[in-house]
This record gives sequence, C-alpha cells and structure tokens, in this order.
Amino acid sequence: MDAARTVGEHTGSLRVQGRSTEAVPLLGSLGRTLAAPVLADRDQPPFPRSTRDGFACRAADLTSGNALHVVGLLRAGDPWTGPALQPGQALEIMTGAPVPAGADCVLMVEHAALNGSLIRTDRQLAAGENIVPAGAEARSGSTIVPAGTRIAPPHIAAAAACGYPTLSVYSRPRVAILSTGDELVPVDSRPLSHQIRNSNSYSIAAQALERGGAPILFPIVRDDLAAIEDAVGQALDSDLLILSGGVSMGKYDFVEQALLNLRAEFFFTGVRIQPGRPVVFGRLPANGGYRYFFGLPGNPVSTMVTFALFAAPLLAALSGRTREGSGPTFAQACLASSIPAKSGLTRFLPAYLEGDAEHALVRPISWQGSGDQAAAARTNCFLVAPEDAGDLSAGSRVSILLL
Ligand code: AMP
Ligand code: MG
Repeated sequence: MDAARTVGEHTGSLRVQGRSTEAVPLLGSLGRTLAAPVLADRDQPPFPRSTRDGFACRAADLTSGNALHVVGLLRAGDPWTGPALQPGQALEIMTGAPVPAGADCVLMVEHAALNGSLIRTDRQLAAGENIVPAGAEARSGSTIVPAGTRIAPPHIAAAAACGYPTLSVYSRPRVAILSTGDELVPVDSRPLSHQIRNSNSYSIAAQALERGGAPILFPIVRDDLAAIEDAVGQALDSDLLILSGGVSMGKYDFVEQALLNLRAEFFFTGVRIQPGRPVVFGRLPANGGYRYFFGLPGNPVSTMVTFALFAAPLLAALSGRTREGSGPTFAQACLASSIPAKSGLTRFLPAYLEGDAEHALVRPISWQGSGDQAAAARTNCFLVAPEDAGDLSAGSRVSILLL
C-alpha cells in the first residue's frame, strides 16, 4: 500500500531525533520502548546446568553396561563441593543444579534402575546430553534485548534474569486527540435522539495507549472552521495530532481546510481502502519544527482501522521503536465462509480469528458498514480482501490485520 510506505518514509527519518528517557520499575515497562539495552551481567547459564532430574555421569561409562556408583545428591540451589566425578561414578542431580566437573551427561531418572547406591541403565548417551554448558545461552556483557524494542513479557523475564529492577524507557509521546462533529456529546452526557456519544476519542486513546503513547483527550470540536483551527492550534505542543471526523466530502467537513489554513503539508489525502478511504496524513509547522497529524474518518470502524494501519506505526516510531515490528501486524488464516468480490478498494472486514495450533480460522462478522461499532466490538481482527482479489472462497488463505 503506497500510503503505508509514505508513513514508513517519515517514521524512518524520525528515529534519529533525540528523545527523552525515564527509568520505570520493571513491570511498569510493559508495552514501553526500551531506551538502553538489557545486557547479560554474567554468562547464562552461569554454570553447566542439568536440564533433567537424574544422574550426572560420564557418557563413556554407559557403553560398558556396568553399574555406576552413586556418590551423592545435588539439588538446585546447592553448590557441589566434592571432588570431580571419577570414572564409574554418578551424582544424583536435580533439574537446574550445576553439573559437577568430570561428568559430561545427565541420565534421566526415568532411565535408571537404582539398587542401593548403584544404578544401571540400558541407555547410551552422547557427551553433553541433558546439560546446557555455561555461557551457551548468552555471554556475559552481550545484548539480550536491544534498545528500541517494545517491551513484552519475554523481555521483562530477561531483564529480571539479568538483575534489572528498573528499565530505561523512552518517554511516552503525547498524542492530542481531537474529535470533531456537531452531533457529538461527551460520554457522561445523555444524548438527545439526534446526537451520539463521542466514542472515537476513546478508541483512539486506547489504541495510542497500547502503542506506548500518552493520550490527551481534547474537548469535542464543533464543525466550524475557526473552532477546528483554534483547537488544532492548542494541540500543537503535543508530539502527534489525531483528528477524527470531518475529512469526507460533506458540506460541514472542514478539517482539511482548517489544516490548510494552518499551513499544513499533506502527504496523502485519501487511500484506496474501505473503510477509511478519506484518511489524511501530513504535518504542520510548530515551534520551529513540525508536528505530524492524521485526520481519521469519523465512522468508528474506519477510525480504528486507519489508526492501526497508519497512525500506529508513526506513533511507534515516535516512542523510539526501531523499524522492525513497528508496523501493523498481519497474519494468515483460513477463511471460514466465502466473501463476494467488490472491486475498487482493498477492504478490511471485521472478523473473528479462532482455531487452534494446527488451524487458524477467520470468520467474517456481519455488520452494517463502517459506522457499526457494535460489530467492531465482536471482532478481534480485520480480514483483508485485496482490491483485485475477486471472490474469496471458503477455505482460502487470507491476510488478517491483528488488533
Ligand atoms: P464524519 O467523518 O465526520 O463524516 O463522520 C462519519 C460518521 O461517523 C458520522 O455518522 C458521525 O456521526 C460518526 N462519528 C464522527 N465522529 C465520531 C465520534 N467521535 N464518535 C463516534 N462517532 C463519530
Ligand atoms: Mg462529522
């Protein structure tokens, strides 16, 4: 998609700019962007680690079929203080315990017959079996998690293993959210019959939060050129502006004009997708530099899809994430029921991904179009019906946009 590439060109240039950082407690770093790498503070594992409960011994001794003499027991958490294991000897050992010098394999307890202090087995083991050598997983000083990574549970575990009670993360970019529309009322108001509650500010804020942004919800902006200009002007000291509504061809869609009046530079005004076709992307001069903005269409499903496709990657870059993995997440799944062709635009249809390890199945959800946020609440993904794909038959593989 050309529009996604356009956003990508801008995210690329953003990365070199300096960003402020802060130290946060380890668990509080979840979803944030790592600003300084997590380094191994020692070899991992720090000792040759037994991966089984069993008997540390010499692989060569197992070829003879002779019984081995068990010289002791070592549990995880205890050091081995005895001498190196001699030929014909075995040490009973637990998973996670250090394998003593002289042993080169661990015979699983299930494969050993114990008789007094003697064990026998009919198994042959190769040297190294059931042992992870010291430093095999990571060398002391090596990078375990690079800066620029969006912090997920495995990174938290890695940081804990390396002794980081806090992590350095990039500050959250401030995302100003401006929903426009004369029909909108705040969430805590009772709408009159011709009014609706402003839900887009919340979907945008939630998506921004998930992507490591700090959402700032502005009051609802009326469909009035001066009011929009005024609100945008007030939002310019944030890091990113997201507007919702007012970018279509309606008589009261003033957002583009307001942005133009504020000397906006547009990179695209409209994308060949449905929902979300009228989405605009550009930047405004501000404080000697510029601020990026997105004008997302007001229909709630369009708002969510266009945020995921275009705003999320830019926000990820603003939050310090490196290019890898900063875009929207697509996957493949098997289509549960057919979708008739509709040419002209690439469609993102609300869908539900289910299935198991062998078979990912995606089910389109019936909906009333891009204003149907009740349908959006029944989705966990959008399935992609490409512009020229023709009919998509049940059982075919399709791309899905994960939310
Ligand atoms: P617009 O993009 O302004 O033409 O709006 C398209 C549709 O989305 C209209 O039905 C609006 O009422 C609806 N809409 C616009 N803004 C919001 C919002 N903030 N929350 C919920 N629905 C909205
Ligand atoms: Mg509107």
